[in-house]
Amino acid sequence: MQPIDMMSALVTGGTGGFIAAALMRVAMQTDRSLRRPLLLCFWGFLVLGIGLSQNAFSDRALRWPMFAGATATLVCTVLVSRGLLAIAAGRVLRHPAWVDVALAVGLLAVAWPQGPWLFGVVFHAACAAISTAVAVVLGRSLATRRSAAETVVAATFALYAATWVYGLWTAARYHGPELRHLLYMPEPMLSVYAVADALLPLVVGALVLNLANARLGARLHRQASTDELTRLLSRRAINERARPFLERAVARGRGVALLLVDADRFKHVNDTHGHEAGDAVLAELAGRLQALLPGALVSRYGGEEFLVLLETASLDAARAAAERLRAGIADAPVPVGTRDLAVTVSTGLALWPPSAEFGAVLRRADAALYEAKRTGRDRVVDFEADAAPLSAWEAAAPGTP
Ligand code: GH3
Ligand code: MG
Ligand code: MG
Repeated sequence: MQPIDMMSALVTGGTGGFIAAALMRVAMQTDRSLRRPLLLCFWGFLVLGIGLSQNAFSDRALRWPMFAGATATLVCTVLVSRGLLAIAAGRVLRHPAWVDVALAVGLLAVAWPQGPWLFGVVFHAACAAISTAVAVVLGRSLATRRSAAETVVAATFALYAATWVYGLWTAARYHGPELRHLLYMPEPMLSVYAVADALLPLVVGALVLNLANARLGARLHRQASTDELTRLLSRRAINERARPFLERAVARGRGVALLLVDADRFKHVNDTHGHEAGDAVLAELAGRLQALLPGALVSRYGGEEFLVLLETASLDAARAAAERLRAGIADAPVPVGTRDLAVTVSTGLALWPPSAEFGAVLRRADAALYEAKRTGRDRVVDFEADAAPLSAWEAAAPGTP
């Protein structure tokens, strides 16, 4: 069996560190909200690139490159760990990163004069302790939030921690001449370990970039799905979720009603009390819609117009729910500043036969809303064509498209 070429391993690891640092700069441009943790990773990988490269190329008779290489590795572990904790697990440590770096360098500086055995053990123990702690936190955060990018990062970090624990075990048992690369394990594990360590900076760098992209994607999707003022679903989000909501209701042998709820004479609220008061009323209306229609999908569909998808057993039940909503708004004025504003809503209601297109049912609800406005506001009107009992299509529902 061929022995591992440590020079190649160190050069590969060092180059990987530089490339990973470059990837962190790319990620920082992609998502500025992760700028700080990505900057920590950038510095960590850059230091590692310098540390491993100088260890590979410096005079073999010198001892200090060994110290510099170990220090760079520990500093990289510290900085990348802090960055990953913030990006993947949302844990931001309060104290500044330089404190951790100073502690890491100080620890190795104290261990260095104590001889090669103790230095090797302290170096491995520090890396093992930090990476294991981070692997545990990343693993735990997976229990609550799970995306492919996070799973792969946590698994890779667990592997990284395992290599350090194994390295510590072999370093503690080793009693022989000092090795430049500080890896005291026999072949073939030495080859496996060296190759894994050489590739890890590149792999972790690519994964962090991927994770940052996944985070950005999730944030943009959340923003696109949520209305900023009312925190309700956006029009786009409810359009996406409408059909699955109907399918779940149908699977339970129930139906869905669409409620188009529009604030009455809202322009007057703005004109009389100001736009800010109008905003406050809209936020209050959003809260009441959610409180009075639990389990419903509630969205802000337009300016002062809300679209609600309500799971229901019958047209009567849907009408009763919409009536409760109407009364719950009309009977309790909305406090805005020192004033109480009387607000009412008109609601157009239409049942959603499972075979119908969402858009077609929405048009029915809109027609009903128009009728509610035309006949005096502060009322619920249902689309007449749907007046047939819900049970008629309820019976045919399961299995129908
Ligand atoms: P109607 O009873 O017929 O619905 O009368 P209306 O005044 O409510 O309807 P109209 O469509 O004439 O006016 C809607 C108003 O809602 C006009 C617009 O300025 C206001 N509006 C829309 N979005 C917002 C918002 O985000 N904040 C505030 N404050 N007002 C908004
Ligand atoms: Mg209105
Ligand atoms: Mg309107």
